Amino acid sequence: MKVLVTGGAGYIGSHAVRELLDSGHQVVVLDNLSKGHEEAIDKRAAFVLASTEDVDLIVNKIKLHGIEAVMHFAADIEVGESVTDPFKYYQNNFSNAVSLLEALNICGVKKFVFSSTAAVYGNPERTPILESDLRNPINPYGRSKMMVEMALEDACKAYGMGYTILRYFNVAGASPDATIGEDHQPESHLIPKILMAAREGTAVKIFGTDYPTSDGTCVRDYVHVMDLARAHVLALENLSPGKGEVFNLGSESGFSVREVISACERVTGRKITVEEGPRRAGDPATLVASSKKIREQLGWERKYPDMETIVAHAWNWHTSHPEGYVKETEKSHFILTEMASEEYRMAETYRYFGE
Ligand code: UDP
Repeated sequence: MKVLVTGGAGYIGSHAVRELLDSGHQVVVLDNLSKGHEEAIDKRAAFVLASTEDVDLIVNKIKLHGIEAVMHFAADIEVGESVTDPFKYYQNNFSNAVSLLEALNICGVKKFVFSSTAAVYGNPERTPILESDLRNPINPYGRSKMMVEMALEDACKAYGMGYTILRYFNVAGASPDATIGEDHQPESHLIPKILMAAREGTAVKIFGTDYPTSDGTCVRDYVHVMDLARAHVLALENLSPGKGEVFNLGSESGFSVREVISACERVTGRKITVEEGPRRAGDPATLVASSKKIREQLGWERKYPDMETIVAHAWNWHTSHPEGYVKETEKSHFILTEMASEEYRMAETYRYFGE
């Protein structure tokens, strides 16, 4: 299939692009590089430097490349920032997603895979969480994602849009060959922060030790980024116009913050200094998903289920890329492909189809 991947220069998007290409699909990445990295874009994909809000441009690209389906990753992801700057989240995550859907509708593209989040559940009613459980987000980030889910449900009814919503729990790890991985600026996620502390000999802070969990720290459900990427390809290949599906992507087992720190110590062979701090606002005590539905309906199986492999792949990435992605000295021709001249557009097409 010819697939447009928004946010394909980001952490999860870049791994999904690799999995799509390895599975024989053709990919056009659309990313504004506000958070993504040009170096993370697979050289086998075409690249469009743009935001999803530009309906005319997206219509043009869909037609130019004969796009048949879209995977939508481009979004802001910081819960704390969403509380202090909610309009940014409603604009970028919700409004821009609606613009993208409008462009798809104009072009008659009816296959859409959407990156959603466990944050749509808020404080869950029970554990493990089922897809049918109540959506009750407790922050603007979760609400912005839930609003896109609702827009998709309506677009399915009104226009026959086919969609699959994938609700991520905690995503971690890197490609096993350590060529692509996690590089957020600033980094807020637990595993990269622990590994940074291990590398630099600094301390990692535990946000809250008084939760109602076995050791007082928050429990989360960690999935390897390559397993998550595989789930996207399965979702895409099983999508039908006019039908909507939603799947949790978790592992059904939870790890406390202290357990993750211990796993990192085992993998790195280093003692990690820990500081106990207060709770972080908006953190539920336990978030663990049931992934029964996607296993049964799509045959999803995790290739890297154990925590130590997840951490080992992340460690290999961070130690081989201590500064994250480093800008290539020579600017690639990617940027030039978007200089609006017809010749460059043609070059983009040729590169894409390998002609
Ligand atoms: N956490 C922590 N110290 C950190 C970063 C995160 O104790 O430096 C905790 C955080 O409070 C949460 C868990 O680790 O309970 C996972 O946090 P992360 O930000 O990685 O993912 P989230 O669950 O918020 O999506």
